[in-house]
Amino acid sequence: MNQADVIVIGAGAAGLMAAYELCKQGKQVRVLEARERPGGRIHTVQPPHFTTPVEAGAEFVHGDLPLTLSLLQEAGISRKGAWGERWRREGKKLSKLEGFIEQEDLLLKRMKELKEDLPIKDFLDRHFQGSEYEHMRRSIKRFVEGYDAADIERASTFALRQEWEGEDEHQYRPAGGYAAMINYLLNACTNRGTVFHFSSTVERVQWEKGKAAVFTDKGEQFVASQLLVTIPLALWQVEPPAKGAIYFEPQLADKLDAAKLMGMGGVIKVLFEFKTTIWTSKQVKEATGADLSGAAWIFSDEPVPTWWTQQPAQSTVLTGWLAGPKATAMVSMANEALLEQSLQSLATILSLPTEELRRELTGSQIFNWQADPFARGAYAYNTVQTEQARKTMIHPVENTLFFAGESLYEGPEMGTVEGALSSGKRAAEEMLRNQE
Ligand SMILES: Cc1cc2nc3c(=O)[nH]c(=O)nc-3n(C[C@H](O)[C@H](O)[C@H](O)COP(=O)(O)OP(=O)(O)OC[C@H]3O[C@@H](n4cnc5c(N)ncnc54)[C@H](O)[C@@H]3O)c2cc1C
Repeated sequence: MNQADVIVIGAGAAGLMAAYELCKQGKQVRVLEARERPGGRIHTVQPPHFTTPVEAGAEFVHGDLPLTLSLLQEAGISRKGAWGERWRREGKKLSKLEGFIEQEDLLLKRMKELKEDLPIKDFLDRHFQGSEYEHMRRSIKRFVEGYDAADIERASTFALRQEWEGEDEHQYRPAGGYAAMINYLLNACTNRGTVFHFSSTVERVQWEKGKAAVFTDKGEQFVASQLLVTIPLALWQVEPPAKGAIYFEPQLADKLDAAKLMGMGGVIKVLFEFKTTIWTSKQVKEATGADLSGAAWIFSDEPVPTWWTQQPAQSTVLTGWLAGPKATAMVSMANEALLEQSLQSLATILSLPTEELRRELTGSQIFNWQADPFARGAYAYNTVQTEQARKTMIHPVENTLFFAGESLYEGPEMGTVEGALSSGKRAAEEMLRNQE
């Protein structure tokens, strides 16, 4: 039997951060991870797939986020600014965009007057019904689905208000990719005696006050006096024997019920590398009249609607993005078909023949996060019930079971690496307090 002070399930940002805090205080920690690699939804694809490291999962630091930036600094990892022009293809025209949401000032004014939360769709139906607001409604739907990966029929208006009021224009990318931060945490933990078990999927947890026995798909058993669970929200929303879901004995019925009240959306991320920056070519300029050499973002209504470059860095990589209910609708589509769909979408946006793009393509990969059994989605979003449900999910059980992960972070950065790191740190502090 493998014994430890603490077992952590999941070697993503939350689990690694918690393990780091715990082993710094002298705890013997074992981390059980279903994948063969650390990082979870942080997954930097290294060369030779592409000529530079490219992000299949998390990519941006969305603002001056304290924990992420201090960790990057501690690890000696620099960051690069991520900015540039925003463009939108509407009909046959590509034009520069100023904001993401139309009539944003009016929208925020009405949102501030709101006394009781409701789904954003109901809010729009109530306050912006008229045809004069049609463009605004469409831009909000696009943003909520595309950025928050959320369903407008469930997404909380209060949470979106908080997000839009606090929007930070500064964005960064960790130099060398987010994996550098994950490797730093992994090494720091390993050097302090933490043991990692990869390709070990936890299937069952048998617990009583002061003791948790954890069973994996390999037939291994691990025992500790405290257990931290950091699996993604969507794995709480499915039931064993679904891969990745965990059977608790005795059951945690209140947590399973609470998880269903929260929201998690899907994302399909498309990574393309071309021989040249084809979107800046003379052919594209002539066909669209647009000079995309400063473009960071290109939005459209194509099946794969959103694309971005590595601006301001020069790179021949282009990233495609499909999120929310539209990504969910394509969850079972084979990667070959998704690749074809992506090429066609991009060809339409750039007014280029698909074959031309295909000839220029030197590398491609598709990441369908909702189809990934150990994620079953990309990140959580706030529903009207999330705040209450999250309190139930976070609450430790008998000083023995503890819970973390990006969806279990109580702050404005939900769904981010910052949220995951913060939740891991918070859980580690609870565990240390409860052992005193
Ligand atoms: C496509 C995409 C783009 C994103 N973009 C950004 C971005 O730009 N900026 C940003 O800040 N955030 C972004 N995010 C969100 C960010 O990646 C996540 O919020 C964060 O990485 C989640 O960390 P976590 O530790 O909570 O969960 P995870 O990283 O999912 O870690 C949980 C771990 O548990 C493991 N696991 C699951 N089930 C079991 C089991 N039964 N037994 C053992 N192990 C198990 C999983 O394999 C996983 O490694 C993005 C996410 C995606 C998918």
